[in-house]
Amino acid sequence: KPLIEFQHVSKTYDNGTIGLNDINLSIPQGEFLVIVGLSGAGKSTLMRTINRMHEISSGDLIVDGESVVHLEGKDLRRLRRSIGMIFQNFNLVKRASVQRNVLSGRVGYYGTWKSTLGLFSKADKQKAIEALQRVGLGEKLYSRADELSGGQQQRVAIARAFMQDPKIILADEPIASLDPLTTESVMNDLKRLNQEFHITVIVNLHSVSLARRFADRIIGLRGGELVYDEPIDKVTEKD
Ligand code: ADP
Ligand code: ADP
Repeated sequence: KPLIEFQHVSKTYDNGTIGLNDINLSIPQGEFLVIVGLSGAGKSTLMRTINRMHEISSGDLIVDGESVVHLEGKDLRRLRRSIGMIFQNFNLVKRASVQRNVLSGRVGYYGTWKSTLGLFSKADKQKAIEALQRVGLGEKLYSRADELSGGQQQRVAIARAFMQDPKIILADEPIASLDPLTTESVMNDLKRLNQEFHITVIVNLHSVSLARRFADRIIGLRGGELVYDEPIDKVTEKD
């Protein structure tokens, strides 16, 4: 039984722009799926329907055995808490500490919030440290987020997503603003979470060659339509 299933999903924006057109797609648990396509192809739209950042216009979308289309209130919050999200621009609270940013994953909401750090248990704080160590940033706990390099900020965002104990991580162009070396470490961090914790990871990328190196499967979008869907056979892959 797939973890995520798109059934004839279409999405038209309020201004009439077609975001997705009749998408049928099954994503098994534990897959590392990369979505490729030109800018405007619908990659971000497809990804953001999974945690209901975008609503679909027709069809059905099943996540972990239940249709997410009509979820509201605490059920919608539960869905979003179970899904980590990584953005191109990191979406950290810039003037807050790294610790605070990572702990925000615990509540599943990535913004500023009023309550103090005292809200979080010792166990949460320990988990935040472990999450940061996992991405090689254990010593940055008390740094302000905006004192870090782009690549470090993206790894803080990965630690924040990991704090959610997510079933799924959605990474929307996670490396688009990073240099090649940093790209490598961010992709490796995502791959490790996928392999060690069987978190289903879905990544939007422009680069097909990078996709081939990390993906279990690559799908291609064009004009909101699924135009390509192939597993990567790592065994016969030569480059
Ligand atoms: P990609 O992630 O592949 O660059 P998007 O999913 O962002 O593509 O966009 C798909 C299409 O939907 C594009 O034509 C884009 O301009 C349009 N689009 C995206 N978001 C909105 C929005 N909020 N309102 C109207 N059109 C949008
Ligand atoms: P990102 O996808 O990295 O957040 P974008 O520049 O693609 O950055 O989009 C910024 C915001 O504008 C998003 O909320 C997106 O949904 C919206 N948006 C994207 N394309 C369009 C569009 N064609 N018309 C209206 N809003 C759009």
